[in-house]
Amino acid sequence: MDLIGIYLREAIQESGCPVCRILKKYEEDIIGQILYEHVSSPSVREKFSESLGLCPYHAWKLKEIAYSNPLYGGLGVAIIYEHMLSIYINSLKSKKNLEEKKCYLCDLVEIKEQHTIEALSDRFSELIEDYKNSEAILCKKHYEELMLLLRKRSPELTEELRKIQIKSLKHSNLS
Ligand SMILES: [Zn+2]
Ligand SMILES: [Zn+2]
Repeated sequence: MDLIGIYLREAIQESGCPVCRILKKYEEDIIGQILYEHVSSPSVREKFSESLGLCPYHAWKLKEIAYSNPLYGGLGVAIIYEHMLSIYINSLKSKKNLEEKKCYLCDLVEIKEQHTIEALSDRFSELIEDYKNSEAILCKKHYEELMLLLRKRSPELTEELRKIQIKSLKHSNLS
């Protein structure tokens, strides 16, 4: 099994949805990177200004992570949002409407989500036993997304996954 497969297998060993788990970690890592090294990087600033900051969920998440780790602190968030504010003020002065693109972090997480589901479906024949024997349960969304890809790529696995899913859900319901 390749490195990505090993990484997926690790996520499957834990309880809960392995894809959600991977995405949560990815989101936190990327926010950490932004706060730690990229606050003043021009390309990151540009991304933030295109979306005029983050969606409410990610804005609070950024603040939460910034304050939870003394290595980051509030300065990074302040720098980012001071910059956003100056863009906004300038648009008011010039009476130009600002076009807001989608939140930069939502975008990144969605791409990661797609890649993770694809990687999982590519390797699912090797991972299905681990999934079966683990406490992991794909959430409804990620189960459906994986099923969609498996139907195209390895339809023989879909029925097996459906059965495991029912069994795991029943089991978690009783315990
Ligand atoms: Zn999930
Ligand atoms: Zn967002």
